[in-house]
Amino acid sequence: MTAAKKQLAPRDNGAPDHMKMLHPAMEKNYGKWKRHDKIRPGVLKYTAESGDAIFVVRAGSPRTLSVNKIRQICDIADRFCEGHVRFTTRNNLELVVTDEKDVDPLINEITSVLGFPIGGTGHSISNMLHTQGWMHCNLPGTDAAGAVKALMDVLHEEFTREDLPHRVKLSTSCCQINCGGQADIAINLQHHHPPKIDHGTVQQCELPKVVGICPAAAIRPMNVDGKSSLEVVEEKCMYCGACHGQCPSMEIRDPDTDSLAIWVGGKSASTRGGPSFMKLAAFGLPNNPPRWPEVADAVRRILDAYRNGAREYERIGEWIERVGWKNFFEETGFEFTKYHIDSYRFARTTFNTSSHVRL
Ligand code: SF4
Ligand code: SF4
Repeated sequence: MTAAKKQLAPRDNGAPDHMKMLHPAMEKNYGKWKRHDKIRPGVLKYTAESGDAIFVVRAGSPRTLSVNKIRQICDIADRFCEGHVRFTTRNNLELVVTDEKDVDPLINEITSVLGFPIGGTGHSISNMLHTQGWMHCNLPGTDAAGAVKALMDVLHEEFTREDLPHRVKLSTSCCQINCGGQADIAINLQHHHPPKIDHGTVQQCELPKVVGICPAAAIRPMNVDGKSSLEVVEEKCMYCGACHGQCPSMEIRDPDTDSLAIWVGGKSASTRGGPSFMKLAAFGLPNNPPRWPEVADAVRRILDAYRNGAREYERIGEWIERVGWKNFFEETGFEFTKYHIDSYRFARTTFNTSSHVRL
């Protein structure tokens, strides 16, 4: 090895090597798992070709955790799981034990010390994914974390039992940029007006970037009172709010008119029908903290109709495609309007065309 190579700094970007973080039993049997069994809601058993078995206990977490709560999780992981803990993409906490006798004491610790419910496996709702919201983002039109808390208070029994036709993934996004991604049921905040431009402060933004970020090419430069500024071609604007993320002087949020919409039928998995985009089910629901009762009622209606009408192993989008959207609207009681028809004329060929591939 040359002297120059020895001086290189350790790699400090990109995904870390996950093999170093696996529970020893998982590392030993990596890629050699023979089967998995659902023991009961929230507990999975994985059996390896070697005969080794691990038991995975899954619990719902609130995603945003205090240092104290993280210390409690680590303490439980040290005592039961050889110091290993992991989170799923939907913020479920997963703890792994190798002896079935440890499952019940572990569940007792999780429920009594952490206060987390056990579940989220099999034919249940997932722990609800929510976006960063006010914690990290400058765009939110609602409190995604608060809406999740209110909804899971209403729906948590769907998390702890497995009696739905198939898995239902839920997400909440606090704007139409939709960091929450595709989900079987997604709650998104919608704006209803083009951004209002503050011509006195907009120069602090990089104006070409603001023009360039608009997916509808609705923003163009203009001169206002001798100063560089911008204008929005309102006919083209679809109120997405991307420009507000680039420039705070493009104010898109409006507490009087912002409302919540529910989208259904999205999924990223390649199973059966392949990945699919969500479609609009209901809109204009009031942004009504702290409990968002209108949104909770709408989600409950979708879940009830799905439970009654879907065949086993049909995801929500697959159920709707089979019975037809007309029946979906009749079963859920949502009103079908002209706004449910995608007639937007300014879409460019560079729009995303799949939930997997970003073009
Ligand atoms: S959904 Fe929108 S407002 Fe919420 S975190 Fe993502 S970009 Fe920010
Ligand atoms: S809200 Fe979206 S579509 Fe409208 S001007 Fe801003 S970036 Fe363009």
